[in-house]
Amino acid sequence: MAAREEGKEPQFSGECSGPIKTKTGIWVRCGSRIASKCSSCAELYRGDWAAIARSGVFDPSVERHRFYLLTLTAPSFGRVHRVPRSAGKRMKRCGCGAMHGLVDVALRGVPLDPSTYDYLGQVAWNRDAGVLWDRTRRRIRDRWDSAEFFLVREWQDRGVLHLHVLVRIERVEAPGAGPLREAARTATAASKVDGSIVGWGEQVDAVVFRADGDGAKTIWYLSKALNYVMKDTARAAMGGRGSNSAWSHLAALGSAARKIRCSPGCVPEDCPSRVHDRFGSRSHVVSASRRTKHRTGWSFSALTRKAQRLRRREWMKASESASATDATPATEQQNEAVLALAGSRRRVSVARTAALP
Ligand SMILES: [Zn+2]
Ligand SMILES: [Zn+2]
Ligand SMILES: [Zn+2]
Repeated sequence: MAAREEGKEPQFSGECSGPIKTKTGIWVRCGSRIASKCSSCAELYRGDWAAIARSGVFDPSVERHRFYLLTLTAPSFGRVHRVPRSAGKRMKRCGCGAMHGLVDVALRGVPLDPSTYDYLGQVAWNRDAGVLWDRTRRRIRDRWDSAEFFLVREWQDRGVLHLHVLVRIERVEAPGAGPLREAARTATAASKVDGSIVGWGEQVDAVVFRADGDGAKTIWYLSKALNYVMKDTARAAMGGRGSNSAWSHLAALGSAARKIRCSPGCVPEDCPSRVHDRFGSRSHVVSASRRTKHRTGWSFSALTRKAQRLRRREWMKASESASATDATPATEQQNEAVLALAGSRRRVSVARTAALP
């Protein structure tokens, strides 16, 4: 992975593929976090978050903590085809009766019976996943007050959100993986939109790891998840497999998402919220618990994307004053710095809309 070492100045390698000219005539980064749209901006975003993930694991005080990797999935909304991800993996017979191989990739996550599949239930679950995670996080902290979190949301092939959470708890109160898994698995929440009760599916997993042991492996795993997340939309994650059944599954999810209410007062047919275009999802892709008066927050060094932006800004100022002394025209590198800075401004507004846990 290409994570930046904390403390080092970030490099602006690569160029934004779709810079935007502002009213004041400055070219700014497009700020996309979708690799297929702009690999340079997506890499910047991924790198920032990877650095934050690392800064909550690698620290001199790390021996005082126990770490967990918690995976939370949605309930079933109907049976789907099971297709292996790699060759040679022993597969069970699929519910459709076939033994699928890699060639059937287009069927992965596609319902066995679209006519009975609960599309509305699934997009409503995506919509309510944020409030469910909020309840789960509180439940964990009620039991183990020192818990801090780093969370990545990923799309599963069937078009439902899937959560990977790094949890850090002080050793003095740290439970085994079992009690943590049970506390998370049994959490429920009431939908803020229709009051229905939402919960997790049966596939909930928790493993303990030592940051001085296989922490690097865990970060590698998270980095992989961050990479995956750059595809951003379920459409990007699941599309491109070119089968009619995969596309009609996505189309059915899309039309269900346009029918549900995204808030208590929402009139779906007139509502401009992007929730209706994102299979119900409103959550940000990545988040980490913040430092407060009484809490460390996930990052031991209180590293945030804002701090990273400020660092980039300082770097740009320094390179500007260097160019003033030289009286040379702006270099490619300086242009990149300007683009990066402007890109970070755009991300400020994006971050403001984020509901952090
Ligand atoms: Zn860009
Ligand atoms: Zn099948
Ligand atoms: Zn709406």
